[in-house]
Amino acid sequence: MIRTRFAPSPNGLLHLGHAHAAIVAHDLARERGGEFAVRIEDIDGTRSRADLVPEILADLEWLGLAWDGPVVFQSERLASYAAAGERLKAMGLLYPCTCTRAQVAEQAREFGPDGPIYPGTCRGRSAPPDAPVAWRLDMARAAQQAGPLEWLDELAGPQVCRPEQFGDVVLLRKEAPASYHLAATLDDAADGITLVTRGLDLFAASHIHRLLQALLGLPVPVWHHHLLLLEADGRKLAKRRGSPALADLRRAGEDGPALAAALRAGRLPTGLSFGKGVG
Ligand code: GLU
Ligand code: ZN
Repeated sequence: MIRTRFAPSPNGLLHLGHAHAAIVAHDLARERGGEFAVRIEDIDGTRSRADLVPEILADLEWLGLAWDGPVVFQSERLASYAAAGERLKAMGLLYPCTCTRAQVAEQAREFGPDGPIYPGTCRGRSAPPDAPVAWRLDMARAAQQAGPLEWLDELAGPQVCRPEQFGDVVLLRKEAPASYHLAATLDDAADGITLVTRGLDLFAASHIHRLLQALLGLPVPVWHHHLLLLEADGRKLAKRRGSPALADLRRAGEDGPALAAALRAGRLPTGLSFGKGVG
């Protein structure tokens, strides 16, 4: 049976782009007789807001998107992220890094899908006592240990796994228990997600997730990276650029199921369009 999920980060209210992402995940599950789960990605202590969770769930209900099973929260799974981190450390695949974001930007000579590629400054050093460290994946070593990998996007077709393009990514963050990559990969496995749906902006991240699945012995889902709902100028929707929050539409008495039907039919508000959102 297939199982999909919508996994919002409660850093702000949902907008139309989130509605589209939730509809894709929901509808693919329903069309194929599967299940649709909701996971709240709330481990970014500086940005995550607990008060937004009821708003997000109310938005999904308002759109007519019913989910299966209890809503799960990443903040309740910190032990599993730490355990995976310890396992990767024991495999000799993580090293501590004290560099700040600004230092990384300054040191970087190459750019990957996520921005500056970390040049490995701290590789081979040991953790300084008491200083906060991030733990980075020794990508070359990890990729070598995993061997050649592939993954399947059901829209784009089979992909040769190329995590090296990211360099040594952070898996355990200084200011948060885990990086998005580690938490999402572990959770998709824990939640039995067989079809990972998300926007094309996260297509490249799946190379890292596929590698982590191989290293940690996790089941491998199929991916479905969908088009993004974009502003007329190709930029992502943002409330500050005038895209309404779903909660505002809901409170204004708009018809949620009618909005969902319009998005499904590609009848978009003036100025918005579907696109790849990259390049
Ligand atoms: N929490 C992520 C976001 O809001 C979801 C990414 C994913 O679906 O893997 O963008
Ligand atoms: Zn460093």
